[in-house]
Amino acid sequence: MASVATATADQIPALVCEDIHKSFGSIEVLKGVSLTANEGDVISMLGSSGSGKSTFLRCINLLETPNAGQVTVSGELIKMATNKKGEYLPTDPRQIEKIRTKLAMVFQGFNLWSHMTTLENIIEAPIHVLGLSKAEATERAKAVMDKVGIYERRDYYPAHMSGGQQQRVAIARALAMEPKVMLFDEPTSALDPELVGEVLKVMRDLADEGRTMIVVTHEMGFAREVSSETIFLHQGRILEQGPPKEVFGNPKSERFQQFLAGNL
Ligand code: ADP
Ligand code: MG
Repeated sequence: MASVATATADQIPALVCEDIHKSFGSIEVLKGVSLTANEGDVISMLGSSGSGKSTFLRCINLLETPNAGQVTVSGELIKMATNKKGEYLPTDPRQIEKIRTKLAMVFQGFNLWSHMTTLENIIEAPIHVLGLSKAEATERAKAVMDKVGIYERRDYYPAHMSGGQQQRVAIARALAMEPKVMLFDEPTSALDPELVGEVLKVMRDLADEGRTMIVVTHEMGFAREVSSETIFLHQGRILEQGPPKEVFGNPKSERFQQFLAGNL
């Protein structure tokens, strides 16, 4: 996994979130969430609907602006400050653009561009955000399409593919950015049951390659078997956090036991 990295690089976590708070109006959705993902960590995030999982992922790449807290990506702190109006905001838009290229997000609903083929979806950001030539981006796309088993569908439009294929295209599109951390928000929740496995297999392969991943999921098997750490979020707070063996084997909170029993 990290064996080729230098000792120094090893010591810099891929992602550190410290005490993230987020409110919508008077409702505090995140009440101080912290996590550290070292290189190669796969962190599964569990929690019932409305517990703040998506909001947390969105705060990491600043699709939402947290009201307090800090995010550091590969040692680079995202600069935020409180302005005269008392709003806590990023201070360097160029830094946000740069950081976002290091954090690729995969959504429940795939979010592919419907008017673009698989290949066009994948090369779009490498060309327009990273500045690759079309030839370079196409080369990179070929490699990631191979990896997720979608190369045969390179000239298809999203509407002509199954949900599992579309989600694999979305994963390939994320991979083509060569991100530091991949953020998955319930990547299999919109899929028909028979298509879940093909997407989980791709994610498992990515984990085996040593990719750093934060995965919001309801797939308990994936969380138990693939992740290096499991987090249980409840009403905007982390109630459980640790190796899946410990979290599942010896839940500390009654809430998590209820969640596992399907009663939360
Ligand atoms: P989860 O992903 O765990 O289901 P979310 O992070 O989507 O939870 O939502 C947590 C809470 O925040 C919910 O009560 C939701 O209604 C609220 N929320 C999320 N986004 C917004 C928004 N943009 N405006 C207002 N409330 C929001
Ligand atoms: Mg959600």
